[in-house]
Amino acid sequence: MTTTMSQPDAADQALVPGAVIDDAEVGERAPWSGVIAAGDVLTIVDLYGNQAVDTLFYGGHDHTIRYSAQATIAAQGNIFLTTGTVIRDQESAPMMTIVGDEVGNHDTLGGACSQESNTLRYGHHTKHQHACVENFLIGGARHGLGKRDLVGNVNFFMNVPVDPDGSLGIVDGLSAPGKRVALRADVDTLVLISNCPQINNPCNGFDPTAVRVIVTRPAAG
Ligand SMILES: [Zn+2]
Repeated sequence: MTTTMSQPDAADQALVPGAVIDDAEVGERAPWSGVIAAGDVLTIVDLYGNQAVDTLFYGGHDHTIRYSAQATIAAQGNIFLTTGTVIRDQESAPMMTIVGDEVGNHDTLGGACSQESNTLRYGHHTKHQHACVENFLIGGARHGLGKRDLVGNVNFFMNVPVDPDGSLGIVDGLSAPGKRVALRADVDTLVLISNCPQINNPCNGFDPTAVRVIVTRPAAG
């Protein structure tokens, strides 16, 4: 799949307009991290469609403050993340709020792929394949984070339906090329992303592709 398709200017592709603070293309299978200042908005663009973006959140100044899927789900009474969802830490304090979503729902039950889970699910021949946990460790190392700091994550653009009997699936995505999700930081927040390298299930359409992250600072008032 080509990765040379020209993209709109960051200011035009950001879901919430404002001064562009950061703009990066996150290559297929690559990590990204950045501290989003309170009030700034992170837009994630699924450039080519059907690409899972595994994401963790930490306090911008205190990495013992971490994302909690349980607190986030319990507070909103729903397992899917979409516009209005408040990303919460382990004390249920707000970290970020989803302020725009062109997909409809995002997963926080499926967790992250790892070399170890790949061998259990797909066979030992997959042991060498790059995975999200490795991306989290590479990206997190820049901020002093290690294995002990990894918690359950959000999977943006990943479709994990839950059947009436409670069983989970990982199926073809709801997303499509150019679909966006945007999160406003309620407090300074470190965002750690793994652009998922998985090629053994449909979460990336069996073809991991680049995504774009754009940070904007909306005009005051
Ligand atoms: Zn993954």
